[in-house]
Amino acid sequence: MVSSEYERRIAARFAVFDQDGNGFIDREDFSGAAKALLAEFGTAARSDKGQALYIGAEAFWQGLAGIADRDGDQLISREEFVNGAVKRLRDNPERFAEIGRPFLHATLDVADPDGDGSATVEDTVRVLGALGVPHEVAVTAASTLDTDGDGKVGEAEIVSAFARYFTVPE
Ligand code: CA
Ligand code: CA
Ligand code: CA
Repeated sequence: MVSSEYERRIAARFAVFDQDGNGFIDREDFSGAAKALLAEFGTAARSDKGQALYIGAEAFWQGLAGIADRDGDQLISREEFVNGAVKRLRDNPERFAEIGRPFLHATLDVADPDGDGSATVEDTVRVLGALGVPHEVAVTAASTLDTDGDGKVGEAEIVSAFARYFTVPE
């Protein structure tokens, strides 16, 4: 059964990917997200971390397009997102974690100046803010992401939370 609550949640997920809000998810949304993250943390695009982030963003786009872009026009419409991505990934959350992992890993690297493989909750709020998440929502989300409560968000926490968030139960 499709409820309006379900539709609302799907629309919110779509909006996260459609970074420029033009009604389609495409490559520019992913490279734009990478650019915004690098700007937030003052990281150069040509640095190793910057390059890894762009490579991760491209891999994420390719993975999502491979699942959802049925007509191959290099755009994921809302309908393709709902019928392709959401339904297929709900059956296979690990697949989603897999295609998003290089991007999430590179994002943590950018937000992790001391190189211990995790970002502080505060830096995670900055990550979400750079991706257009409203501040209040970002603050709540970042502390939720820290599931073991050590004040830091690690790769395992972020990848599993991400897969959970995008595999919306109907
Ligand atoms: Ca877009
Ligand atoms: Ca398409
Ligand atoms: Ca933690």
